[in-house]
Amino acid sequence: MSALERLAASLQGLGDLRRAEAMARHTTFGVGGPADLFLTVRSADALAAATRAARQADVTVFVLGSGSNILVADAGMRGLVLDNRARAESTDAPKTTWRVESGTSFAAFARRVCRQGLEGLAWAVGIPGTLGGAVVYNAGAYGGCLADVLRRVRLADDDRDEWVPAADLGLVYRGSVFTRGQFAGKTVLETELALTPGNAAELLARVAAFDTRRIAAQPRGRNAGSMFKNPPDHPAWRLIEAVGLRGATHGEAAISEKHCNFFVNLGNACAADVAWLVAEAERRVQEQFGVRLEREVAFVGEWS
Ligand SMILES: Cc1cc2nc3c(=O)[nH]c(=O)nc-3n(C[C@H](O)[C@H](O)[C@H](O)COP(=O)(O)OP(=O)(O)OC[C@H]3O[C@@H](n4cnc5c(N)ncnc54)[C@H](O)[C@@H]3O)c2cc1C
Repeated sequence: MSALERLAASLQGLGDLRRAEAMARHTTFGVGGPADLFLTVRSADALAAATRAARQADVTVFVLGSGSNILVADAGMRGLVLDNRARAESTDAPKTTWRVESGTSFAAFARRVCRQGLEGLAWAVGIPGTLGGAVVYNAGAYGGCLADVLRRVRLADDDRDEWVPAADLGLVYRGSVFTRGQFAGKTVLETELALTPGNAAELLARVAAFDTRRIAAQPRGRNAGSMFKNPPDHPAWRLIEAVGLRGATHGEAAISEKHCNFFVNLGNACAADVAWLVAEAERRVQEQFGVRLEREVAFVGEWS
């Protein structure tokens, strides 16, 4: 029996297991080939157990949130993909300390607490993705970022869970110890957030203003948000526009006319179409401006 088959047997009871699941169904880009094993888990404990089972079986494991910051290769993903739907949450009596499982929608949670008059996450209401993904990228917008409210996270390691203070996660602009590979193999199970009492009406007015700004600035359709981090001196979109790529297409992928740091799937794009445009933007910006664009979207899976 192969390591993959042994792992599949040991995952029984932890969630819904599928084979050769098309990742295109689970990414906001709508592209990506099959995952060998795809397990949907609905609790932090199942997420931890499945992470450990894969590590013990020596099978590559990838934790999937909402798939809103990844480009999955057309050849798909080898090993196990853990589809994280662990969404339990709890709070204390003044509702200022929240424990939220990592598969919870970050935007939906942010909207809920704003409605309850809690200050700290109004800026986050338009960010797709899970709390787990938000930790990995220190998700942020409009001057706020997760680090402002994150107190600690519960992580699954090889043999135990541990609570790690936010200060030890190396949270920076769209990065952390996870994106730098220092916490490879660790899974975010749960987050603890500190919010403060605020005024619900005032918070909801701010939420509405953020919604309006986002609708005005960002394209509709299938995409993964900003493709590149903003270099220190110029926003990435300005550099991409300056090299003549606004609205450029390749196959069924395009650089958005509306916001040229957004790469979009026009309908039936494959990952290779998107990757071609990304490489072209990187090449032209490097040649014309000597600036190395750094990808914010992670390319994952089997790229040849
Ligand atoms: C339209 C649009 C607008 C966006 N706007 C913003 C914005 O304003 N600000 C911003 O910061 N981002 C933005 N993004 C990007 C994206 O929403 C965020 O990066 C989000 O935090 C990713 O979360 P996710 O759950 O989708 O992660 P995924 O894309 O599923 O995964 C991303 C990475 O995180 C890892 N990961 C996910 N969950 C866990 C976990 N529990 N434990 C360990 N690793 C994990 C994955 O393995 C992968 O490496 C936008 C995206 C879109 C599509």
